[in-house]
Amino acid sequence: METDIDKKLLEKRKRNLRKAVDHHGHTCLGQVLGVQLAERGMDAIGTTDPKKIIVYVENDRCIADAIQILTGTRLGRRSMKLVNYGKMAATFINTDTGDAYRVWVSGKINDMIGRISSDRLEKEKQYQIVLRSRSEDVVSVQKVMVDIPPSEMPGKPKRTVECAQCGEKVMDGKDVSGKEGPLCLACAKGPYYRLVEENADAIRE
Ligand SMILES: [Zn+2]
Ligand SMILES: [Zn+2]
Repeated sequence: METDIDKKLLEKRKRNLRKAVDHHGHTCLGQVLGVQLAERGMDAIGTTDPKKIIVYVENDRCIADAIQILTGTRLGRRSMKLVNYGKMAATFINTDTGDAYRVWVSGKINDMIGRISSDRLEKEKQYQIVLRSRSEDVVSVQKVMVDIPPSEMPGKPKRTVECAQCGEKVMDGKDVSGKEGPLCLACAKGPYYRLVEENADAIRE
């Protein structure tokens, strides 16, 4: 198959794709696009050191897994953050230099691969096109500034309080103030869940 990139880069892409697919569980367009996004993002900020990278990923679908595994960032280490715009994009930040670049899947690649196919062979062809295309034909990059609040930085929680209503601990300044003291968001605004009868009794006791 025709390739727009040199052999060394293609080999690196293939290695990255294997890593991403091993973690994600299947090969998909999101993994090949994620490889392109992650490579371009790390190139732009000039580091591949997971300790120096924070990524804001803009959807919680396939690309998020690829970017996580290739950058070494983790939701549970506060180095990967989800801002769910439902977009095929992510912003990469070098915490040493403060440099930040937003990288997104550009329109050109959609023209190159055509409609997303459900046919296996056709899909494989589309993956190969993305994998073998020059970065600038797949993703665009823009220098940006991200002000990360201190409460969102990795490291020990800077603030932990007890909710005045439910008594559960609330970290990282996620509490709001209530009449009787700090409240967790579930108590202050209503939770995303509803209690079911049997559990509700147990909790009231
Ligand atoms: Zn996938
Ligand atoms: Zn509460």
